[in-house]
Amino acid sequence: MQVTAGDVLVSAQTGLRLAYKQKNLILACQYVPDHDVSVKLPDGGGLDTRAIVASKEMLNTTVMRIELTPEGGFVCEPGQYLTLINNDGLARSYSVANDPCRDGRIELHIRLLRDGLMSNFLKEKIKLGDSLTVRGPAGHCFYVAEEGSDYPIVLAGTGTGLAPLYGIAKQALAKGHRGEIQLFHGALDEADLYLIPQLRKLGADFHNFHYAPCVLRGESDRFYRQGNIQDIVMSALPIEKSRTRLFLCGAPEMVNALKRKAFLGGLASKHIFADAFLPTKTATIAA
Ligand SMILES: Cc1cc2nc3c(=O)[nH]c(=O)nc-3n(C[C@H](O)[C@H](O)[C@H](O)COP(=O)(O)OP(=O)(O)OC[C@H]3O[C@@H](n4cnc5c(N)ncnc54)[C@H](O)[C@@H]3O)c2cc1C
Repeated sequence: MQVTAGDVLVSAQTGLRLAYKQKNLILACQYVPDHDVSVKLPDGGGLDTRAIVASKEMLNTTVMRIELTPEGGFVCEPGQYLTLINNDGLARSYSVANDPCRDGRIELHIRLLRDGLMSNFLKEKIKLGDSLTVRGPAGHCFYVAEEGSDYPIVLAGTGTGLAPLYGIAKQALAKGHRGEIQLFHGALDEADLYLIPQLRKLGADFHNFHYAPCVLRGESDRFYRQGNIQDIVMSALPIEKSRTRLFLCGAPEMVNALKRKAFLGGLASKHIFADAFLPTKTATIAA
């Protein structure tokens, strides 16, 4: 249920994801109010927002940045994901690359697939000023300041897996994180890298932020590290393994393999946060 007036009992929110807690959702079976409250069933509408397309820009030949202005605000941690739903009910998840509360806009990085239904819709059909439904947010890949904010953070992702990692890195730095932050962005070819100037600037502005582009089919004397991102990340894990937080986003094979290797390599499973960009099986949902 969703509490619309009256106190929300924290004990009735145990186990709910942050986004639901922020929307005042509660588990009715755990909710024993001692005063009058108003509640309603949380239909999709309780978690949906309309958002206007504010900008579209190519970041490289296959990745498009789209910015959306949510009507009535959108509370979300950078790194979480949302579901975009178009007017035909086509729905796909995308990770949030910024702090929408601070910026007033939601930044998404869309990898354009030649036969992709949503990526083609976003590239070819939708125009500036058009609106979409945004559902969510969801996901546990986001920065939480703990233990004096001095533990190491490792962020690793391939392709548009950079979107949530970029959001998490900026958020950690904005919140004054003091530990070392390493961001590994993996690409097949050099041309697949993107946001290079922005990430370099972050490294110049913050002494504890280190950007490490990795290119599988690269050359050895370029500005990036040449090789498989999994090997590069494993060889660069901080010595303080028990305190290291690892964030993994992007291709499911990379995410799952690195998750396993990092755990076997000494990282605590509770400190490994992962979002695999799984392809959607069901094409549409009711808008
Ligand atoms: C939690 C989560 C977060 C995500 N965040 C992002 C994000 O930030 N940016 C982003 O671009 N995508 C992200 N995705 C993937 C996204 O939801 C879509 O799956 C993707 O955009 C393809 O949708 P489409 O409609 O364009 O293609 P579809 O019409 O669904 O697929 C077209 C064809 O491409 C294949 N395909 C689909 N996805 C992939 C893939 N990733 N790699 C290779 N082949 C694929 C399909 O099997 C199909 O054959 C995320 C997915 C999840 C689950």
